[in-house]
Amino acid sequence: MSEQVVILGTGPAGYTAAVYAARANLNPIVVEGDEPGGQLMLTTEVENFPGFPDGILGPDLMDAMKKQAERFGAKFVHGRATAVDMAQRPFRVTLDNGTTYESAALIISTGASAKMLDIPGEAEMVGHGVSTCATCDGFFFRNKRIIVVGGGDSAMEEATFLTRYASEVTIVHRRDTLRASKVMQDRAHKNPKIKWLMNTSPVEVINDNQRVTGLKVKHNDTGETEVLSTEGLFVSIGHQPNTAFLEGQVETNAVGYIITKPDSTATSVDGVFACGDVADPHYRQAITAAGSGCKAAMDVERWLEAHND
Ligand code: NAP
Repeated sequence: MSEQVVILGTGPAGYTAAVYAARANLNPIVVEGDEPGGQLMLTTEVENFPGFPDGILGPDLMDAMKKQAERFGAKFVHGRATAVDMAQRPFRVTLDNGTTYESAALIISTGASAKMLDIPGEAEMVGHGVSTCATCDGFFFRNKRIIVVGGGDSAMEEATFLTRYASEVTIVHRRDTLRASKVMQDRAHKNPKIKWLMNTSPVEVINDNQRVTGLKVKHNDTGETEVLSTEGLFVSIGHQPNTAFLEGQVETNAVGYIITKPDSTATSVDGVFACGDVADPHYRQAITAAGSGCKAAMDVERWLEAHND
């Protein structure tokens, strides 16, 4: 049996698309992905989602969105899409557990994942001192020294958050100016536990075969290297859109974000729509993702009406 619409991914975009598609009686199938709830599941307080004057915990917000979609009949399935055949309609989606779905239309809301430094020692120490999520792992670094790599808002936010646990947090950034917004920079600069190492690039994660013991860095002005002693390394250098599984069938920009048509969530493939961070290199906020999820479901509804053959 072919579905009317399959939604891939469950951040604010996927959940909102599911609410709207379900209320439009499209009986959406929603593939949860590897990280059901998306990036907000890795966050504590969300203070900028309208409607919550006292803030709301990220996981609570995602849970509420899911329940709202379920209330209108959206069907959630475990698993991650590993392949999508867009050569003909209905489109065919294959999940990692072998299940396949055929669907007249698709909404891609697979979000973006944390980027890694790709330096020696990093991959094998993930979970043993290397982390991309302060909220998830900060607790394990009580009274320890930590390094945060990055100069954007995420790095400022993670470093500030980590001072709750760590004895000292050093921000290592490859340039001498930060990319982060002024307010986030100021907050980090005011924090006495945060130290700064600018114009410095990570070269290698040092470990004793069990856990991280240091980070080898290069000072970019002199070219000299140095090993900084640390027990934790938080990599906070941005995100990569989750589009590899599409294997080039949908047009993306140079770094993999899906390109949508102006004033629309339509992609280069007729019947395939994209919303949320996977198609948004600019805003990447929960509220903008939710808004684009609404648009995608409405675009699908209209597209299905026009292709009622
Ligand atoms: P970002 O703005 O792209 O910043 C990434 C940082 O990592 C940059 O400073 C970059 O250095 C550095 N970097 C990238 N690749 C690197 C590498 N291979 N080695 C070393 N350093 C590397 O990413 P983000 O901080 O995750 O923020 C993403 C978006 O979310 C932004 O629009 C941000 O404003 C938003 N955001 C907002 C909040 C908030 O308002 N509460 C919190 C988090 C994120 P360069 O500067 O040299 O390029």
